[in-house]
Amino acid sequence: MAREGEHLLDSHLLVGPTGLRYRDEGPYDRDDRGALWARWGGRPTGRVRLADAHGLRQRRALRQLLCQGCKRPADRTGDGTLWLIEDDPGSWDDWPEQLLTMHPPTCMPCATIADRACPHLSDTGSVLLYVKDSEAAGIRGHLYTPTVGGPPTRTYTPFVDYRDPRLPFTLAVHQVVALSGCTIVRRTPPRVPAHAERTP
Ligand SMILES: [Zn+2]
Repeated sequence: MAREGEHLLDSHLLVGPTGLRYRDEGPYDRDDRGALWARWGGRPTGRVRLADAHGLRQRRALRQLLCQGCKRPADRTGDGTLWLIEDDPGSWDDWPEQLLTMHPPTCMPCATIADRACPHLSDTGSVLLYVKDSEAAGIRGHLYTPTVGGPPTRTYTPFVDYRDPRLPFTLAVHQVVALSGCTIVRRTPPRVPAHAERTP
């Protein structure tokens, strides 16, 4: 999560005819698939902003399979790494195979807390599962489109595949992975709102 006092930096970003680059670009500004990553500035002085995953920490948690709650190693068994995702009953036949997510894995205690406390999961219901493989599939971030005679436009784009021709023009903010080899452990249905339970 990002904390108050932290923000994205896009100074030194140049939008050219072949894509984005930093004026002072260094070896750590791109990932090994060539995506240019947003830089973060400021200091983490304030509260955690729950809706706003910090890009560098989110990417490291996905790469090192750290729990998104406590930042310690996520639970692992022979079936893979533990993940908690929102339920999606209307989805494809072998769901959640190849599901795209930007959320890192979890440990069992943090999954139990999130199931109880996360308002989004209580709306959708949740699925706890083990995942054999989580391959980096793309990024989400800001797509810059050059314009004639004016500044480039910037559009927040939820998913750009690493093979997408728009990749060179997208400033990566979060990593997106594809889950495969999924074994579902438990399903938690959506929670009925308290006022609905009181309705006769
Ligand atoms: Zn945890």
